[in-house]
Amino acid sequence: MPTETFEFQVEARQLLQLMIHSVYSNKDVFLRELVSNGSDALDKLRLEKLWDDSLDADVSDLHIEIDIDSDARTLTVRDNGIGMSYEEVGRLIGTIANSGTASFLEELREAKDEAGAEGLIGQFGVGFYSGFMVADEVTLVTRRAGERQGTRWTSRGEGTYQLETVDDAPQGTSVTLHLKPADPENQLHDYTSPWKIKEIIKRYSDFITWPIRMVPEASATDDKSDEAPEPETLNSMKALWARPRDEVSDDEYHELYKHIGHDWRDPLETIRLQAEGTFEYQALLFLPAHAPHDLFTRDFKRGVQLYVKRVFIMDDCEALLPPYLRFVKGVVDAADLSLNVSREILQQDRHIEMMRRRLTKKVLSTVKDMMTKDQDRYATFWREFGTVLKEGLVTDSENRDAILAVASFASTHHDTEPSTLKQYVERMKDGQDDIYYLTGESRQSIENSPHMEAFRDRGIEVLLLTDAVDEVWADAVGEYEGKKLRSVAKGRIDLDNEDEETLEGEKEKQTEEYAGLLGWMKEQLDEDIKEVRLSSRLTVSPACIVSDAQDLTPALENMYRAMGQEVPRAKRILELNPDHQLVKGLNQAYKEREDRTDLAATAELLHGLAVLAEGGRPKEPSRFVKLMADRLERAL
Ligand code: ADP
Repeated sequence: MPTETFEFQVEARQLLQLMIHSVYSNKDVFLRELVSNGSDALDKLRLEKLWDDSLDADVSDLHIEIDIDSDARTLTVRDNGIGMSYEEVGRLIGTIANSGTASFLEELREAKDEAGAEGLIGQFGVGFYSGFMVADEVTLVTRRAGERQGTRWTSRGEGTYQLETVDDAPQGTSVTLHLKPADPENQLHDYTSPWKIKEIIKRYSDFITWPIRMVPEASATDDKSDEAPEPETLNSMKALWARPRDEVSDDEYHELYKHIGHDWRDPLETIRLQAEGTFEYQALLFLPAHAPHDLFTRDFKRGVQLYVKRVFIMDDCEALLPPYLRFVKGVVDAADLSLNVSREILQQDRHIEMMRRRLTKKVLSTVKDMMTKDQDRYATFWREFGTVLKEGLVTDSENRDAILAVASFASTHHDTEPSTLKQYVERMKDGQDDIYYLTGESRQSIENSPHMEAFRDRGIEVLLLTDAVDEVWADAVGEYEGKKLRSVAKGRIDLDNEDEETLEGEKEKQTEEYAGLLGWMKEQLDEDIKEVRLSSRLTVSPACIVSDAQDLTPALENMYRAMGQEVPRAKRILELNPDHQLVKGLNQAYKEREDRTDLAATAELLHGLAVLAEGGRPKEPSRFVKLMADRLERAL
């Protein structure tokens, strides 16, 4: 097959441009990325061979090798792992599959200055392409284990790449960087120096479980004999989780995190756990500092790496943590599992179940610790992952209290600082029995909702919940430390506990006075409303809509429908503010007039306004507008 030239996919081209004109100051990391890919390729080959013994591949000496040629100014990173087929090279190296990348590039275009761009590159990491930070040409030669022909990929990173088949490629992949010209001003970045390479490997890749070897350059040795120089192994290969805790530095943990998390930034928190006894295992878990862009997508790859006695078994092992902790990265190394354990077996294994429970509790208790010891870090954690964690309030009743204990919510108490439930309860007024909350689209829309009026008036704190999941958990959880969680948009609200008796008398009088109007309005709005009653929530608005305590909220109804579930539309309750001039006037007119056609339109408008005020939309918007315009015109 002749050499063929292909164009990079648009995103890939943009990313490469960035690398070539790199603004990223820490260029050393390109080596970490190449070694990391090599290590993954070795893991994959070992597993594939384990599953399929007939695979024609040599797994007797799996390793990574680094070769320097200082005369040619090339650096080669070679592995004898799984390799790639011709088709895979085009697909994996020519395009960018990561769904976060498009939004990354979008942000990058907006960040005009270099500091902004550098920060963003660090956030996303660009794997293989990072080689173009230090090289002006990259050649990759690879042969997929079991296949006969290999593939050579070459590119200067400028829009196109060349592919050709080669006959004599060894199994695995070698990436050769044709390094940019040496910079006499900056000896620090001389990647033809063995010392530099050793230092980088030690710093970033020491824990890699495969040997990383370097063969000294022939010219660099004094040995004049014909014997090939001995390769030197640069990494200790010691699993961090198996080393004594105080021997491992934070930096080392962080590099492991970057390798397995495909993140270029430090994690927020490192968690170690050592379980002794009949079922022994070690876990090293990380809480990232930033939520990945695809955390809420269906194909988000969750789970930690599973090892058995230091041997890598699988990536993305979902069985070890519940879905609401899907952002946690790390390694779990179990002593007594079979080496060819499958995902299906793991799902049903009793020991795995026990591990999941233990790891879950450990993660939650770590967050709790963070909360007491380091407010800022906790705040970052909750901002990034609070929404996901709250899913656990619905799905994991065993840990519900632990999740509630680390949860915080926006509240009317403070404009920007969220409040925990504990803090809310401490601030509760005398005689207040319940914890009040309101759900909605945004803080602003909730704060302006008519349901809030009486609460604001009396200075009663309300939690402002704006995540979709809030609709679900608040209902499911029901209470916190004996205090009921109550939506201010549901059921009857009675905030007055002052002079109960006179108040009762007053209310009765009002109800009598309005009885006719309430009954008549109920008839008018019968299709949508199951009751019209007087309100004690309102101070300035004429009306609002509330749900019965046991009914689904409209947002929740919509959510179920979006998921394809049939739910009947619950009729709701219209509450009127008896102290509002519009309501008073309506009552007056109702009593005086025989012909109530016009009043019926007013009733309809009042209902529409209440729907609008809670962020909904009137059933027939065009009809609503027409009625409204008609009224306004007459008022001129
Ligand atoms: P990432 O490693 O984050 O997926 P890269 O751009 O570094 O992104 O690599 C893209 C893909 O190319 C990898 O996921 C892997 O499938 C393949 N790949 C890269 N390097 C190698 C290698 N040395 N051996 C086999 N496959 C590789």
